[in-house]
Amino acid sequence: MPGSATSGLSFQPSLIFEQGSPNRHGASLAPDDLPEVDAKSAFGKMAREVPPMLPEVSEPEAVRHYVRLSQQNFAIDTGMYPLGSCTMKYNPKVNEWAARLAGFTDLHPYMPDELVQGALELMWGLERGLAEVCGMDRVSLHPAAGAQGELAGLMMIRAYHQAQGRDPKKVLIPDTAHGTNPASCALNGLQAVAFPVGEDGIVTTEALAPFVDDDVAAIMATNPNTVGLFETHMPAIAELIHSKGGLVYGDGANLNALMGKARPGDLGIDVMQFNLHKTFTTPHGGGGPGCGPVGYKALLDPYAPVPVVEQQDGRFVLDYSSRPASVGRLRSFQGNFGMMVRAYAYLREMGAEGLQRATELAVLNANYLRIRLGELWHVPYDAICMHEVVISDRHLKQTGVTTMDVAKRLMDFGFHPPTVYFPLVVKGAMLIEPTETESLQTLDEFVDAMKAISDEAIAEPDFVKSAPKSTRLRRLDETRAARKPVLRWTAPETPREPSSASGETAETRP
Ligand SMILES: *Cc1c(COP(=O)(O)O)cnc(C)c1O
Repeated sequence: MPGSATSGLSFQPSLIFEQGSPNRHGASLAPDDLPEVDAKSAFGKMAREVPPMLPEVSEPEAVRHYVRLSQQNFAIDTGMYPLGSCTMKYNPKVNEWAARLAGFTDLHPYMPDELVQGALELMWGLERGLAEVCGMDRVSLHPAAGAQGELAGLMMIRAYHQAQGRDPKKVLIPDTAHGTNPASCALNGLQAVAFPVGEDGIVTTEALAPFVDDDVAAIMATNPNTVGLFETHMPAIAELIHSKGGLVYGDGANLNALMGKARPGDLGIDVMQFNLHKTFTTPHGGGGPGCGPVGYKALLDPYAPVPVVEQQDGRFVLDYSSRPASVGRLRSFQGNFGMMVRAYAYLREMGAEGLQRATELAVLNANYLRIRLGELWHVPYDAICMHEVVISDRHLKQTGVTTMDVAKRLMDFGFHPPTVYFPLVVKGAMLIEPTETESLQTLDEFVDAMKAISDEAIAEPDFVKSAPKSTRLRRLDETRAARKPVLRWTAPETPREPSSASGETAETRP
């Protein structure tokens, strides 16, 4: 019962992080008959002076420790995760199977092209598939994140201008944009210039025109944008920018709302990134590996990152040399290959119709939530949305309960909170992205939870303000957690005393 989950966790031995006791062990290997080695003479300065003092644990203790830690995390495999703009959708397990096939995992990145034809063919096929989905001529699979895709795209734009003897410095960015957009400009020596979106949440040529001059290198447009709305004026915006010699960068992180319906390349966009870890079902969150391929029109091909997979006489090769003006190499080897396998498997499973259907359901689910939540919550942009919807905490103003409290309380109901306080243009924003993978039943449960929290906020605001009640840890110092994360186990100062031999036998027995 979520509403009554106030029990708190009393002392339980299994919740202690520190485990084990000296001389306890979990492996049962035959005794070795190898000669003793003098560490000093074998390893010189590398030899340890003090033993590492790692925890010594039995096998069940090790298993329980890691399983318990995994259970303390929220995951898409345990519940709805409507974190707007992040597209936390279900990742079909068959894609994991494909990525783990030994023929892929056992490859070494330095193997010669002729021994890795299958992998190169997969990269080629993925490039063709993604190019088709977004209406671009080519796609570089290198970048390891959406943000690195942005960086790559802007580097190509800069190289394009410089090749024409120009070096315009401004990049126009609407004030609803994701924070990585201005950051990518700064990393590239470009100047991010914010401009306001219109009343209805989208970019208009009227609002944009005063900012467009000869010093504009590009506009960065997110479509659908981060308030979940489709940019209906995209072709006119692109025409305006192109008329001054600028290029159009498309932030394609929200492709989950476009696949099979509209192609950025057809809307005037010259270069864009994909987020395979959002739309194309690689598990993400918690800083796991990413893959942010960049799609581009032919005019940017001379500047594409190298190497590029090319087809020559029916064979696939990694081409390093035929683009002397390339922006160069963006990362080691060929990018996060396992994610390419997952994305390729997903594209092949879904086919054109499947992708289209996923888009339709993602948009339908978001609009269902817009209508149902709108019965109680404030919906700032009351128009048909795409794959995500923004609501705010406005109706709770009198109660003192805020978006942060609502987010914390949602965890007691078994839901991951939505994105909070973003987009910045909406006060007390919650950006909710249900994705196509949630059922009507789950969406209704989410609406019920949001209604229950609203009722609680009005009846008993302090209760909501002290949520969560049922999680392993309660309200955390989020700033310290982000700025000073403790990610490493550190050994105790003094070595532990070994226990007696009899104690050891008792403890190692499962
Ligand atoms: C997620 C996201 C990005 C950044 O992608 P990363 O892979 O996290 O670097 C950029 N723009 C938008 C709109 C996003 O949602």
